[in-house]
Amino acid sequence: MAACIFCKIIRGEIPSMKIFESEKTLAFLDIGPLAKGHSLIIPKFHGAKLHDVPDEHLAEIISVAKRIAVAQGVEDYNILQNNGRIAHQVVDHVHFHMIPKPNEKEGLGISWPTK
Ligand code: 5GP
Repeated sequence: MAACIFCKIIRGEIPSMKIFESEKTLAFLDIGPLAKGHSLIIPKFHGAKLHDVPDEHLAEIISVAKRIAVAQGVEDYNILQNNGRIAHQVVDHVHFHMIPKPNEKEGLGISWPTK
């Protein structure tokens, strides 16, 4: 979709810190992280909401989110997915958040939602 921010990231028209890419899925760092390593995992086709993504593809997306957490050495984290304005969806290209939850020792103390 021409005007979609995440489609522009997929096409490389907007810069991003890409951390995983497959034929169907892209993951990159969130521009406004709620914690260090906050990542977004998206399908590489344009669909606005969860129901636009086939189940098999959802399985890959969740698997990627899990693997990013493992790769970052994160033990505690949230996987979030917002649908619709009332549910705080801002970007209308379906996406999953992987938000690391730093422990008290690490000191960030961020608790979601914070925006
Ligand atoms: P939502 O509230 O729709 O679930 O979350 C959208 C997320 O996309 C937000 O966390 C926001 O920081 C992120 N975001 C919005 N625009 C950009 C962008 O241009 N680049 C990146 N990397 N993240 C973005």
